[in-house]
Amino acid sequence: MSDERCDVLIVGGGPAGATCARELRRAGLDVAILDKKTFPRDKVCAGWVTPLVLNTLEIDTADYVRDRVLQPISGFRSGMIGDGAVEVDYPQVVSYGIRRCEFDDYLLRRSDARLLLGEPLKTMERRNGEWLINDHLRTPLVIGAGGHFCPVAKQLGARVGSGEPVVAAKEIEFEMTPTQREACRVDARRPELYFCNDLKGYGWIFRKGDYLNIGLGREDNHRLGDHIDAFMDWLKRSGRIPADIDHRFKGHAYLLYAHGDRPLIRDGVLLIGDAAGLAYPQSGEGIRPAIESAVMAPQPLRVRPCSRPGRLSAGAAPCALSPAAGSALRSAGDQRPQPDTGRIAPAPGRAAAEESLVYPPRGAGPLVSARASAAVAHRGLGARPA
Ligand SMILES: Cc1cc2nc3c(=O)[nH]c(=O)nc-3n(C[C@H](O)[C@H](O)[C@H](O)COP(=O)(O)OP(=O)(O)OC[C@H]3O[C@@H](n4cnc5c(N)ncnc54)[C@H](O)[C@@H]3O)c2cc1C
Repeated sequence: MSDERCDVLIVGGGPAGATCARELRRAGLDVAILDKKTFPRDKVCAGWVTPLVLNTLEIDTADYVRDRVLQPISGFRSGMIGDGAVEVDYPQVVSYGIRRCEFDDYLLRRSDARLLLGEPLKTMERRNGEWLINDHLRTPLVIGAGGHFCPVAKQLGARVGSGEPVVAAKEIEFEMTPTQREACRVDARRPELYFCNDLKGYGWIFRKGDYLNIGLGREDNHRLGDHIDAFMDWLKRSGRIPADIDHRFKGHAYLLYAHGDRPLIRDGVLLIGDAAGLAYPQSGEGIRPAIESAVMAPQPLRVRPCSRPGRLSAGAAPCALSPAAGSALRSAGDQRPQPDTGRIAPAPGRAAAEESLVYPPRGAGPLVSARASAAVAHRGLGARPA
């Protein structure tokens, strides 16, 4: 058995995992990311991000756009499937289109974490107050960022794939041929959204440079394929998209945070992003809450000034939350997203919570940090605590 170690192991190198790793690396911690895929890899997603995502990630758009797609959006075309549509334009850019194969690779490479790619999480065993991962890596703290089907979420007891009220969605993204580009009537600055007649989902067409992304997601996954066929037939009949596009869509699922009840924390483990089920119920936007939870989760992991800079105690024994931290966290849990913006309202308890958690009681190990991180992140986002 090898003696490989890290302060924090993040399972999943998507936007949540890569962002969380970057934050932890900035705090001086030794972080490894384990992902079953090698990067760049595709992720089933429309790739629509709000400006807040780019700001939070401190993305230099001039640099990003040099060899990647970043499609500005300043309007929408929307309506009901099979019916008419209205167009709305704004005087400024209100969103962007990215390609997930490029975006995720960019975030992962700049995270500065050790990358263990092409290796799935197979085993996760508790040994002497630490986790032993895949029989070769020891760590006091595992962060589950493996998306909806995250194996760490399963380890915590989530009913992944059985009985959770998921959004089921399918999508296709491809580079259009010159003829298809000519025939496509979708304006790249004005993506199109069309609601299902029962309002249980919507379909979209999104042009990003020379790429076209078409998909449909529903809260009820019954006969999803039929809904997609009907959507595609209508788009083609109405001349919005070229007639020669095939229907080989790829599917995925995710949880809206109002519907999820996954356990989020246990000794030395916490979940972020889709693994925690945080997507916004109104829009299905998942990248932003994934990134916000990733930024917030590590905040209390900063170490006491008197301890070895930038190191967690790898062998720290598990211990319970201190009463002070517990009560501060309860106050932090009073935060609620603002109705208009979904942003978090500052609550008097939050500062106190972070203060007491950033400098946990002497002897407090990663468990305190893990619980604190998850509670601050998830309650702050309005999700149900474990
Ligand atoms: C069709 C569709 C369209 C969407 N469109 C949008 C959109 O336009 N805008 C938006 O904001 N959100 C959208 N979402 C939601 C968005 O894709 C997710 O919320 C977002 O990807 C969550 O990021 P994450 O980092 O938590 O997880 P992910 O991006 O899913 O990353 C998880 C990572 O974990 C790795 N992993 C999984 N299992 C293992 C394992 N066993 N071992 C090791 N690694 C593992 C995976 O390889 C992956 O790299 C859409 C979702 C779907 C399904």
